Amino acid sequence: MLEKIWLSRPHMSGSERKYIDKAFEDNYIAPLGPNVDGFEQDLCKYTNAQYTAALSSGTAALHLALILLGVERDDEVLCQSFTFSASANPIVYQGATPVFIDSEPNTWNMCPDTLNIAIKDRLAKGKKVKAVIPVHLYGMPAKIDEILEVCSNYGIPVIEDAAEALGSKFQEKPLGTFGDFGILSFNGNKIITTSGGGALISDNKQLIEKAKNLSTQARDNAPYYQHSKIGYNYRMSNICAGIGRGQMEVIDTRVAQRRAVYEYYKANLGEIEGITFQSEPLSSFSNRWLTATLFDKDILGVNYEDIRVALEKINIETRPLWKPMHLQPVFKAAPFYATGVSEKLFNSGLCLPSSSDLKESEMNMVVTNIKKLLNH
Ligand SMILES: *Cc1c(COP(=O)(O)O)cnc(C)c1O
Repeated sequence: MLEKIWLSRPHMSGSERKYIDKAFEDNYIAPLGPNVDGFEQDLCKYTNAQYTAALSSGTAALHLALILLGVERDDEVLCQSFTFSASANPIVYQGATPVFIDSEPNTWNMCPDTLNIAIKDRLAKGKKVKAVIPVHLYGMPAKIDEILEVCSNYGIPVIEDAAEALGSKFQEKPLGTFGDFGILSFNGNKIITTSGGGALISDNKQLIEKAKNLSTQARDNAPYYQHSKIGYNYRMSNICAGIGRGQMEVIDTRVAQRRAVYEYYKANLGEIEGITFQSEPLSSFSNRWLTATLFDKDILGVNYEDIRVALEKINIETRPLWKPMHLQPVFKAAPFYATGVSEKLFNSGLCLPSSSDLKESEMNMVVTNIKKLLNH
């Protein structure tokens, strides 16, 4: 059997150990320390965000953003439907209701026109719309300028879910810095990893300081443990942050490598009628975290699931596109504003192996086997 070709595997730079060893030497084995500070500085420098809080996960970052925006029971938060469940779960942690917004076909992300319709309708129904969560799926920038314009017309804050999009830009500006908050993830399969972690980024100093306080059990400024609010244990550890610092040394290389993986698939499969790729609009720069591909069954005779199963048999991991939240059993009662786009994408798409250390021989294996299946 061939060695497994993973969808997206961690790719160390080699200098992670340097930061971790230092933490051991100094006995900084804690959710604070020089690596946490250093990693936050790295992230600020790279994204041009003013302030960052390094946290235990991207999900924790989203949860804190909602808390800081005052989202509570019976409020509503409008969230992109075509995403990973972590975008929406924290809304429910707050006792609020997620309202799902479908995608537009160009970027596959939140449709600004549908968002506008949804906001009007929710407000007309007397609902309190407290925040909007657009997502930059697979690293592709959403139409964030139009989304911001819609939201600012109603004075609704935006939490940008850039978990998959570190290194991506819209009109030259790094993603995660458009909204009131941006969130990042460093889970094991993301473009860089801390083995598990996330960050909340913002230009609002006070809110990031509050996030740091909330993420360390919300201690008051007193010599004893005094608490005036409910806190969380959401801070990133100094060990994980050490991995992050090593990863940040090579982030631009990782983006270039992921983009090269996409270019390889595009060059070798893009000519086949019935295969299309997530496209990158002119004003956008995607980190191409995962290469997302659509297979038109009517033209090709086989569907994405046939391809996934065939590749799985030879130890190549691919994954269907995210199943939209409005189709998830757990969210079946949530309101949904449709365009039909996300469901269509889910019914024809597959993410191909996209690791930054993928060898050409491995990409060739993927391409050759897809072509064989399609009789090309
Ligand atoms: C990975 C991911 C998250 C959550 O990040 P974790 O660090 O795994 O909690 C949130 N949103 C999207 C779109 C993601 O892909």
